[in-house]
Amino acid sequence: MTTFYRGRLAPSPTGLLHMGHARTFWTAFERARERGGTLVFRNEDLDPYRSKAEFVGAMFEDLRWLGIEWQEGPDVGGDFGPYAQSERREYYLRAWRKLVDGGFIYPCTCSRKDLAMAAQAPHDADDEPIYPGTCRGKKLEAREPAGVNWRFRVPDGEVIEFADGRMGRQRYVAGKDFGDFVVWRRDDVPAYQLAVVVDDAAMKITEVVRGEDLLRSTARQILVARALGVTIPGYYHCLLVTDEAGMRLAKRHDALSLRALRSVGRNPREVRGVTTGL
Ligand code: GLU
Repeated sequence: MTTFYRGRLAPSPTGLLHMGHARTFWTAFERARERGGTLVFRNEDLDPYRSKAEFVGAMFEDLRWLGIEWQEGPDVGGDFGPYAQSERREYYLRAWRKLVDGGFIYPCTCSRKDLAMAAQAPHDADDEPIYPGTCRGKKLEAREPAGVNWRFRVPDGEVIEFADGRMGRQRYVAGKDFGDFVVWRRDDVPAYQLAVVVDDAAMKITEVVRGEDLLRSTARQILVARALGVTIPGYYHCLLVTDEAGMRLAKRHDALSLRALRSVGRNPREVRGVTTGL
């Protein structure tokens, strides 16, 4: 039997990659390799305010140092490009139009300071709070994505279930575990929840490997995929790497960045061993 497996590495160039990324990306690499599949590198530079060119180069270099190889990506090409989100706006716009036409999203004029986070993948405490639904029933006319926040109307009370490759059956309740989430920001930046679904579908990704702090995002993305009528991929959520205090590693833990570990003489095998527990 031939298996058709397409996985992806989807780092954001908003800081240096650390041990947590090493675990997730090494897992993604191994799962693709074991299945004779293809691994796609997607540069998630969606947020123009937080993405920095210097971190793009560092991502390629650090992941290659670790021993990870990919068959498609911004630096190697492929049939499903462009492989940087900043160059994929037309895909997101098409999806936005489809969601508007289908009545799945609505414009929201509420001003919330947390909206700045919507282009980023919400890790733990960064997640957007449950929206109270203020603009849900309003008949606001908006023909362009810019100028208002666009929210996905979640089916309140509906159970979203999916099978995770490591953790088994997962179950989330729309309207309870997450509310109407932003898919396009008023400053005209598409949100992570929309872009990632559009890209995974367009790049024919069959399995998404990511950290378990994104489980609730997966449930949201299943709703977006359903609304867009695209195939829902398989999911494999990795265990998070935590610091001594039990906190998830974030890009602020620079001492545990792959770069820092390399500069103090750690070799890739050691780093992989620590992150995978092998
Ligand atoms: N760019 C996202 C991040 O850095 C990727 C999340 C995902 O795998 O969907 O967290």
